[in-house]
Amino acid sequence: MRTGIISIVGAGPGDPELITVKALRRIQNADVILYDRLVNEELLGFARPEALRIYCGKAPGRHSMPQEATEHLMVEHAAMGKHVVRLKGGDPLVFGRGGEEALTAAAAGIPYEIIPGMTSAIGAAASAGIPLTHRGIAASFAVVTGSRCREHGAPVDWAALARGVDTLVIYMGMANLGEIRAQLIQSGKSAATPVALIENGTTALERTVTGTLGTIDKLAAVMKISNPALIVIGEVVNVREQLLGLQQTVRAQIG
Ligand code: SAH
Repeated sequence: MRTGIISIVGAGPGDPELITVKALRRIQNADVILYDRLVNEELLGFARPEALRIYCGKAPGRHSMPQEATEHLMVEHAAMGKHVVRLKGGDPLVFGRGGEEALTAAAAGIPYEIIPGMTSAIGAAASAGIPLTHRGIAASFAVVTGSRCREHGAPVDWAALARGVDTLVIYMGMANLGEIRAQLIQSGKSAATPVALIENGTTALERTVTGTLGTIDKLAAVMKISNPALIVIGEVVNVREQLLGLQQTVRAQIG
């Protein structure tokens, strides 16, 4: 029997047209697709009708399939000679556990590849009209997880980020928004620093609200911003005012 292969594939940030050509070709070739909650389901329409589509994300009110179970399925189907596509939102190696899945494939001796995807920070910022770097305003940006800031010995050094990085893009941060803003202000960031929250970036449901570090958690509550959402912090958020109008005109004309 032929050996199977595993493709760990980034599906892009939400807009199905923002997937790469290579990733699309992998979907078209797949025998089995293991896909996550953040993957736009329109993309599954490109798979062969007989391809097995398995949802590994969180169902409303239920836990997601445990990571081990997903990896087990991935290896099991590949061991039966199938082409398994592990399809993940954004980029598989940016807060996507793609590295762990590649290690599992390697440990099982199954040939694998990693196909990058546009991570949501890049897609959502462009769509919302926020340049992550901008001459004279921001010379650096960092992508940071906001999910672990309450843990003891948190892996994120907020003080160093506040001092050393111009634009911060925080993933998985909405539940800890209050804590994150407090940490940054405590570390010397001005409460007047501009902040944007981008919900469902690059999709038809995209919503962006802007405020400052001082006001953003109240604004998020009033506007009921929920996941998936990114927090963008830095002076570049102000450039949005100048960029947005004509960008929307192009969208209206080309669709
Ligand atoms: N691998 C993914 C990130 C997965 S972590 C990537 O590269 O984008 C999940 C977090 O990603 C969410 O909590 C949210 O912060 C962010 N995210 C993913 N898609 C998003 C979208 N369309 N709009 C806003 N945030 C998004």
